Amino acid sequence: MQDSASGDAAALCAAALESMRQHALPPTPVNYAVWFEFHAGRNAGLRRVLSVALSNRRAIDSYMMAELHELFLADGAERQAAREARVAMRAAAERILEAGADAARYGDRLNAAAVGMEAGAQGLATLIAELAAETAALSVRSARLGEELNASGERIAELERQLAAAHQASLTDALTTLPNRRAFDSMVLEHAGRAMNSGEALCLLMIDIDHFKRVNDAWGHAVGDAVIRLVAATLAQTRPDAARAARYGGEEFALLMPATPLPDAAAHGERLRAMLAARRISLRANAEPIGSITVSVGIARYEPGEAIDRWIERADAALYGAKRDGRNRVVVLEAAAEALAAAS
Ligand code: GH3
Ligand code: MG
Ligand code: MG
Repeated sequence: MQDSASGDAAALCAAALESMRQHALPPTPVNYAVWFEFHAGRNAGLRRVLSVALSNRRAIDSYMMAELHELFLADGAERQAAREARVAMRAAAERILEAGADAARYGDRLNAAAVGMEAGAQGLATLIAELAAETAALSVRSARLGEELNASGERIAELERQLAAAHQASLTDALTTLPNRRAFDSMVLEHAGRAMNSGEALCLLMIDIDHFKRVNDAWGHAVGDAVIRLVAATLAQTRPDAARAARYGGEEFALLMPATPLPDAAAHGERLRAMLAARRISLRANAEPIGSITVSVGIARYEPGEAIDRWIERADAALYGAKRDGRNRVVVLEAAAEALAAAS
């Protein structure tokens, strides 16, 4: 007989296999884990990102699976470093507790000796010899403990450095060195909070490379990667100091522009679009021309108090508007126009 847990697991397994089949994904452990977790619904972040991708007609491919696995499921270096640091700290704390117990035992011995003396016990010399031996032993133990604690301190400091580095890595996209989706998620919350306090305009640009699949198909994935890096570098180099760029996923980027009214954000998006479109790209190996790379840009201003997901959806809707209108263009979502459209 099956218990309900294994029955659930079997249903989740079937659902995961079915999803892989639907999206023509090979049944690899990574793909399986992502869909299993998606159907299990325990991982809210994974569920949200994948649901949005499904409803936004985004390409559900092995790239996205690997990205989701890395962001939400992989036991990353950071968690591992944190675990090691915890173990090291616990060991050090235990040594300190032991040292306390050792000192308490020594105190008890001294008390017992004092009682012995008050009682006028014979063999004072024996008592003193015993105390001297106990004191010597304690001092050896203390010295050893001091060395151990020093070593623990150094180890913990080293682990803290590793932890900080792993934390940084967990927020950085390896291909482009831009902040990754996870970093973007916290960045966007922080900036929305600040915009609500200051009342300043905060704009979000969603930037997606046009017909990127063709680049991969025609030139291979290594060239595709190089194109993603090129767009990322252009985005990072042209952004105003206060703006924050991130790789949102695949060949899509996000740019947060604090204290920037919508027309200024639109002008920046247009400059970026024109700059990329004007550049002629060729293969480094043999200078064979690839042509130009264009991007579509969708922009929405944060409406104070609106849900972050809603804001991102609006910027995304503007981006898909730009795609629909022929790509290589910037579409700004005017809140008023959107309200009118919703009302009609
Ligand atoms: P559109 O103009 O509508 O955006 O078309 P597109 O071909 O750019 O869009 P689509 O979203 O259909 O395809 C994007 C492709 O980008 C799918 C995926 O295989 C590829 N991709 C995602 N991440 C990477 C990556 O890190 N490197 C490479 N080389 N390709 C990637
Ligand atoms: Mg694209
Ligand atoms: Mg895309």
